[in-house]
Amino acid sequence: MAIDIERVRTETPGCRDVIHFNNAGAALMPQPVVAAQVSHLELEARIGGYEAAERAGNKLRRTYLAAARLLGCSPAEIALVESATAAWEAVFYGIKFGTGDRILTSQVEYASNYIAYLHVARNTGARVEAIPSDRHGQVSLDALAAMLDRNVKLVSITHVPTNGGLVNPAEAIGRLTRDSSALYLLDACQSVGQMPIDVERIGCDFLSATGRKYLRGPRGSGFLYVRSSALERIEPPRLDLHSASWVAPDRYRPSPAAQRFERWERNWAATIGLGAAIDYARDLGLDAIESRVVHLAEMLRDRLRALPGVEVLDLGSRRCGIVSFRVRGQHAGSIKEALRARRINVSIATRSSTLLDMTDRGLQELIRASVHYYNTEQELEALCEFVAGR
Ligand SMILES: *Cc1c(COP(=O)(O)O)cnc(C)c1O
Repeated sequence: MAIDIERVRTETPGCRDVIHFNNAGAALMPQPVVAAQVSHLELEARIGGYEAAERAGNKLRRTYLAAARLLGCSPAEIALVESATAAWEAVFYGIKFGTGDRILTSQVEYASNYIAYLHVARNTGARVEAIPSDRHGQVSLDALAAMLDRNVKLVSITHVPTNGGLVNPAEAIGRLTRDSSALYLLDACQSVGQMPIDVERIGCDFLSATGRKYLRGPRGSGFLYVRSSALERIEPPRLDLHSASWVAPDRYRPSPAAQRFERWERNWAATIGLGAAIDYARDLGLDAIESRVVHLAEMLRDRLRALPGVEVLDLGSRRCGIVSFRVRGQHAGSIKEALRARRINVSIATRSSTLLDMTDRGLQELIRASVHYYNTEQELEALCEFVAGR
C-alpha cells in the first residue's frame, strides 16, 4: 500500500522546521520513536535506572524481535549495540587472520572498514584486495568469482556506500561466497530502513546496521546479525559479564547466542527507541518505503541533471535514496552552508570517507542529498531552485 505522506509528515516534528535531505547522516525521528525514548527516560528519572530496566524488559525483547523480523532471522541472531561500527568491529576483529589470508572488499568501502582492514593486515600479514567494479560501478561478480580461492577468509562488502546511490548486488555476492569457505560480512548501514533486507536471500554470515540513518531511530543505536551457523566461526574480540558467564575460577562460557557480541551497559531509552523505529518502518512496509524513496531520488537526479553546471555522480544500475552531485566552480561546503541558512539540510562526502572510489573518479568532495519517503516533490523543487540560482 502507498504511504500516507500527510500522515507521516504530521508524525514527524522535524518536517515543520527543516527540509531534510540528510537521511544518510541521521534521518528525522517520527514522534512514536521520540515518545518511546522520552517515556523510558522519565521512568528512569522517577524510579531509578535499574528498576526502569526491569520494568522495560519486555520492550527490550521487542527490539530484538523487531530487528529479527526486519532482517528475516531469529532474535537469537541479533546483537544490539551502540552503532553500526561497533557491530561491524565486533565481527571483523573476531576473525582470526593469519599470513596469506585474503580479505576481499569493494571499491566503495567506508573509511572505518578500510582502516580496520589495514590495521589487521599490518598486524597479521593478511592481504586486503578491492574487487574491481563493473561498468556500472558495482562490485564485479565476474571479478569476484575469479578472485575467490581457499585463501579468501572474508568477503566484506558495503551494500550502499556513504557517498552515492549505488546498491551493490548483495544477493549475487552471497551466491558466490556460499560455494566458498569465505565468511561474508555485509555493511548494510545505509541500506537497512530504505529497502527490504532479507539475510536468507542475501546469504551473508554477518550484517551490521545503525539506528539513526534510514531507519529513523535514535543516535547511539545499532545492531548486528550473526548467522547461528557462523557463531562459532569467530571469537568475540572482548567479553564481559553479559556476553559471557564466569562459571569457575578459571573458566568462562560465552553466551550461547549473538548476545556474546554485546556489552552489559546499554542506553535503554535508545534501544527501546530503535525497536519503535523498526516497528514504524515495518508498519509502512519496506517495499512501499523503497519504491517511494527510489521515485523521489530518481526525480531529483533528473531535475538536477537538467540544471546547467550540475553533474549527478551516482553510480550503479540499481540505485537508492542517496543522490550525489557537484556544481561546477563551487565548493560543496559553501552550497551546504547556504542551504542550511534556508533550512535545507544536505551533507558533504569528502574524499577520505570512501578514498578508493573518490580517488578513482578524481573527486575531492561531493554534495549528498539523501531523500526519504517523507520528503515531498515541493521540497525537491526548493533544493533545485536554490541550486539553479547559484
Ligand atoms: C555511516 C556508515 C557507517 C557507520 O555507522 P555508525 O553508526 O556511525 O557506526 C558504516 N558504513 C557506512 C557505509 C556508513 O555510511
